[in-house]
Amino acid sequence: MMVETKTKSHLFTELQKQGIRDEKVLEAMDAIPREKFILPAFKDKAYANAALPIEKGQTISQPYIVAFMTEQLKITQKMKVLEIGTGSGYQAAILSKLCRRVFTVERHLQLLKAAEERFKKLHLYNITTLFGDGMRGWAEQAPFERIMVTAAAESIPEKLVDQLEHNGVMILPVGRQTGVQPLVRITRTNNHFEEEELIPTRFVPLLPGIDHNGD
Ligand code: SAH
Repeated sequence: MMVETKTKSHLFTELQKQGIRDEKVLEAMDAIPREKFILPAFKDKAYANAALPIEKGQTISQPYIVAFMTEQLKITQKMKVLEIGTGSGYQAAILSKLCRRVFTVERHLQLLKAAEERFKKLHLYNITTLFGDGMRGWAEQAPFERIMVTAAAESIPEKLVDQLEHNGVMILPVGRQTGVQPLVRITRTNNHFEEEELIPTRFVPLLPGIDHNGD
């Protein structure tokens, strides 16, 4: 316990040094135990500032990237947020502390089920999940004030942009697997879209369709 607490506070100092300033984001990261979202073999690395492997060849993002993307999304308490790529559920859990409702979509059923279990255990009741292809967004629940994609798209999925509310903001890594993927922020003002590149990142790919080999 002692070690874990120490490591966690060490991570927080590092995140602050790396420029994370939003107290609410740091509080959300403090409230969600990352060790509950990773494979048992990596428990001792729960509070290292690194991405870690999860099942199905996917990854849980580096804490700095989670904090940065969350901060850049500028979420407020009343918002409805869509996340594409539930994975372990960690990012969705962080978002759930900052907004009214989180909708999260995953194409691997096994990952989604494990994430749902974690949400239940942690009493995170404002997260709604969908097994499906996130490239198509979630039409029935649209529009969203904020959208975060946690897998790299080769180009910006148009259906997602369409599901962004007026004055909405979307953040996503864009690029091929062979290179660095800049994190892009899209801000919608009526029917005008402004695009900014934030930082270089590396994410697993955003793949079309659902995984048919899953259980
Ligand atoms: N946000 C996650 C990071 C997961 S890695 C976390 O906090 O752990 C990216 C995830 O995106 C993987 O689980 C992958 O299966 C999923 N993914 C990739 N393409 C997708 C798509 N089209 N629709 C839904 N999920 C997708």
